[in-house]
Amino acid sequence: MEKLQVQRRKRLVLVPYPLQGHINPMLDLASILHSKGFSITIAHTKFNSPNPANHPDFIFLPIQDGIPNLDVSPPNLVDLASAINTNCKEPFRECISQLMHQEQRHQVVCIIYDFLMHFAETVANQLNIPSIILRTSNATTLLAFRTIPQLREEGYHSLQDSTSYDLVPGLHPLRFKDLPVSSMGSLDNFLQLLAVVCNTRTSSAIIWNTMDCLENSSLARLQEQYHVPFFPIGPMHKMAPAESSKLFKDENNCFEWLEKQAPNSVLYVSFGSIAKLDEKELTEMAWGLTNSYQPFLWVIRPDLVSGSEAFLPEGFQELTRERACLVRWAPQKDILAHPAVGAFWSHCGWNSTLESICESVPMICKPYFADQKVNARYLTHEWGVGIELGDVMQRTEIAKAIRSILVEKEGMQMRQKAIALKEQIEQCMKDGGSSYNSLDKLVQFISSL
Ligand code: UDP
Repeated sequence: MEKLQVQRRKRLVLVPYPLQGHINPMLDLASILHSKGFSITIAHTKFNSPNPANHPDFIFLPIQDGIPNLDVSPPNLVDLASAINTNCKEPFRECISQLMHQEQRHQVVCIIYDFLMHFAETVANQLNIPSIILRTSNATTLLAFRTIPQLREEGYHSLQDSTSYDLVPGLHPLRFKDLPVSSMGSLDNFLQLLAVVCNTRTSSAIIWNTMDCLENSSLARLQEQYHVPFFPIGPMHKMAPAESSKLFKDENNCFEWLEKQAPNSVLYVSFGSIAKLDEKELTEMAWGLTNSYQPFLWVIRPDLVSGSEAFLPEGFQELTRERACLVRWAPQKDILAHPAVGAFWSHCGWNSTLESICESVPMICKPYFADQKVNARYLTHEWGVGIELGDVMQRTEIAKAIRSILVEKEGMQMRQKAIALKEQIEQCMKDGGSSYNSLDKLVQFISSL
């Protein structure tokens, strides 16, 4: 108790990147560190700001970001990151300087920032505050990021949107088509961003939302290249005591529907918070789901279809009414934990990937951009818990994949592997497990700063 009180005088400032898939793990980390006795300030952009009411124990510090309400989609992501880093630096410096003056009983001991919020490192360094990076995607993606400039120098020019099935030298099992570079706008701009985010600069450690049992070899290779300690403490949503923040409103009526379904019978379908489809893809999805004859819970975000409202094909709702539940946003972690859910058709964002394997739910993988392709490749070829869909959505292939994963032998075998993977992850989190130990070391490390 006394230790917690001493610790409580130590304030950590956490700086999330303002997209759902980045906010969730940062707020989970905040809850984990709060439970270890630290005081928490979340310094966040006004754009996509988290809801302070969900976290009464934290102080929220809005930073002016100068970001208009832009359409967040893959080709804009590099520009968004660069605008945030340019616009937020000065306002952040002012906020932290003020905080340091006000906080007499509490000392700002460390700034922990999302790897995309690198302006926070510059400010921390100017103010003589130690900083730590949080990597919200997996370790293998960083290995791939570090390889991309090298490949380009070696003469591989069409890295973006490559359709090549050839394996990337040194990155087995990744193929050129899996490199986390497609759909990210201009390659030159992307390479500039990579040069910054692959570098630790003056930061003194890296926290990872991953675990040894999943990515032991990638973590070991990276540790040889980085001369700062690594703290892989994932899966953070399971290590954290509290709920993380949601930018959208959950629709809990889907639980009533789930309660009526048989165990392992439902396909949960969601493409995360920013992936977008075109109308043709939506139509193929709708008919694939219809022709599978399996129950499904489908998240259709209002902005899921680029440039227009999502129009479902005529006849779809009548044909599937008996076995479909459609929502605009879902309490995903609880859904994946529901016994009725038998498989997850996903875009393979890293959070979705972790949330699914932590509940031993096998996946149908339809990645779109950035690290999603790396995650999909690992799900299908390294961990054996996913079915890969082709690049073009086709109703026949979709229906076949859904039946395979829900009712055929292939799906049963994947579920067995997913159960084994879940058990390994649980071992990592237990007293003496790798994530548990890393968290202990992280707390000691921060306390010694
Ligand atoms: N999510 C959710 N409800 C939905 C869709 C997504 O709660 O209907 C959450 C999901 O649980 C995950 C996050 O949003 O924690 C999405 O992160 P991910 O890395 O999977 O994908 P991104 O949105 O970054 O592409």
